[in-house]
Amino acid sequence: KGLLITIDGPAGAGKSTVAKKLAQKLGYLYLDTGAMYRVVALAAKRLGLDFQDEERLGELAKTLDFKLVPRENGVSVFLGEEDVSQAIRTPEIDRLSSVVARVPGVREALKTRQQAIGKEGGVIAEGRDMGSVVFPDAEIKFFITASLEARARRRYKEQKQKGLNISFEEVLTNLRERDERDSKREVAPLVIPEGAIIIDTSELSPEQVLDMVLKEIEK
Ligand code: C5P
Repeated sequence: KGLLITIDGPAGAGKSTVAKKLAQKLGYLYLDTGAMYRVVALAAKRLGLDFQDEERLGELAKTLDFKLVPRENGVSVFLGEEDVSQAIRTPEIDRLSSVVARVPGVREALKTRQQAIGKEGGVIAEGRDMGSVVFPDAEIKFFITASLEARARRRYKEQKQKGLNISFEEVLTNLRERDERDSKREVAPLVIPEGAIIIDTSELSPEQVLDMVLKEIEK
């Protein structure tokens, strides 16, 4: 019913852009696992939970009523009946999602949901630990990366387009801190999965990245 393809890498490297295009092109499901961590972070914030309380955070991730609904270009994210697709894409949730992502119970709960979705194949699974932990047997694995500068420039442009009043320096610092948390955490840190094809997108356009990825899949 189709391959299981994983895409991992640091924030702002262009993973979701290529994952969405690829899913569209192949008629696969786009599994945005970052959105799952984001919705848990948003719910925890709204409930006023203590972000140090690992037990409550794990419990929340396990029981939270959320869903990812595929749409034309990506996914819509619902928390209960509420569409939170915009609310989960703020600089604050960027940060809080990487805080909840350190909690083993949160990772365990989300992994169960991710594997249930991915097991049928025909899926592009995007995140930080897709090829290493969640789907170690995936048919094709990509590690998409770019220099910190290039990633910060892209993020800055996106955030300006959204009308956010944020400086390039702040974007750079936020990315650097999130990278640190994601690669230095104890459970499922960001690593290059075994057997992954590495693509550095610093000097590439989204179209060029998609081309390279498609060529690798056709091999
Ligand atoms: O990819 P995105 O920026 O939406 O992910 C938000 C955060 O969720 C990441 O910074 C990371 O801390 C966490 N995450 C993760 N494992 C994944 C996907 C996301 O730890 N598979």
